[in-house]
Amino acid sequence: MPEKKKHTIAVLPGDGIGPEIMREALKILEAVKQKYSLDLEMKQALIGGAAYDRYRVPLPEETLEVCQQADAILLGSIGGPKWDHLPPDLKPELGGLLAMRRMLNLYANLRPITVYEELKDICPLSPRILTGKIDLVTVRELTHGIYFGQPRGSTETEGIDTMRYRKEEVEKIARLAFSMAEKRRKKVTSIDKANVLHSSMLWRKTVTRVATGFPDIELNHLYVDNAAMQLILNPQQFDVILTTNLFGDILSDESAALSGSLGMLPSASLGDSTHLYEPAGGSAPDIAGKGIANPIAQILSVAMMLDYSLNLQHAARDISSAVRRALKDGHRTRDIATPGSDTVSTREMGDAIRNCL
Ligand code: NAD
Repeated sequence: MPEKKKHTIAVLPGDGIGPEIMREALKILEAVKQKYSLDLEMKQALIGGAAYDRYRVPLPEETLEVCQQADAILLGSIGGPKWDHLPPDLKPELGGLLAMRRMLNLYANLRPITVYEELKDICPLSPRILTGKIDLVTVRELTHGIYFGQPRGSTETEGIDTMRYRKEEVEKIARLAFSMAEKRRKKVTSIDKANVLHSSMLWRKTVTRVATGFPDIELNHLYVDNAAMQLILNPQQFDVILTTNLFGDILSDESAALSGSLGMLPSASLGDSTHLYEPAGGSAPDIAGKGIANPIAQILSVAMMLDYSLNLQHAARDISSAVRRALKDGHRTRDIATPGSDTVSTREMGDAIRNCL
């Protein structure tokens, strides 16, 4: 029998609810490992505030090394009020996550949004709008644009950020979005602010040019202000949303709201070699330590990891089906429960999903 390929996973639980939801995700990963006799090795490392508390830096060398040597990175979440006073480069977000995105060149963030039939009652949209199927994916450029452009910085009286895109950076993310659309409903909506911003004018021109290499894909462009409105008025029109770092950050949270809770949504950040998987939400300091966080986003991030990095699509599908089954069976953490109904804890939700596997 051929030997099974060994995979190493870097596990970075991070801060706030990170370690709580990571515990449940690892439980599911362990169950999948047993079920399919996978050769997986998990290597834990510190990032964010947890790393700062121990090493006085949010992204220690040894964490970076663990990540660089891994086949995939599974991240919880980082940040929280405890570290908000730190100078920018030591903050968990800037010095930890953004630095890692840059160092590993994680250039694309993918966020699939599904509105589960079982959770339609907590979707903030009215039933009049929630008629067709909502199934979209945001492809956000992640390592350029206003979060990285130079000059940037601040004095007591001035703050500067620079939104800059180069043709090659736009081409790379656009090609990814079009390739994804080929395997979906064959539609890309590119979102920019080309009526005002120069970087967006280049973005639109470049995306239009890339589209000529994908004749089967329908491309349309929206200004970001209109796109924000369209996501609420007619979310069914979207298949693949392609957008910049800043607009993607905001619009992907808006589209996340369609599913009812940030706690439902996984994401993948694709790099040239290693990819990173994490929930769409943050460290949720308001509920951290209470055992009530929804672990589904983290668990579905494991499914994305199995699919994209380990090429184990059947195992990925198993996890998605188990999540759906647990929801069908009525298990609800507080964020996805209707007011007054019974809820389960983070751990109980993890157990319910594992039992459905
Ligand atoms: P957040 O995403 O942490 O929380 C927003 C709301 O969503 C909160 O009410 C929270 O309770 C809820 N929520 C999020 N995940 C949930 C889950 N799994 N289950 C149930 N409810 C959930 O955003 P925030 O409050 O703006 O930020 C808190 C901290 O997280 C900040 O320090 C921020 O910088 C950081 N952050 C980190 C990441 C990341 O690690 N990638 C992303 C966004 C924000």
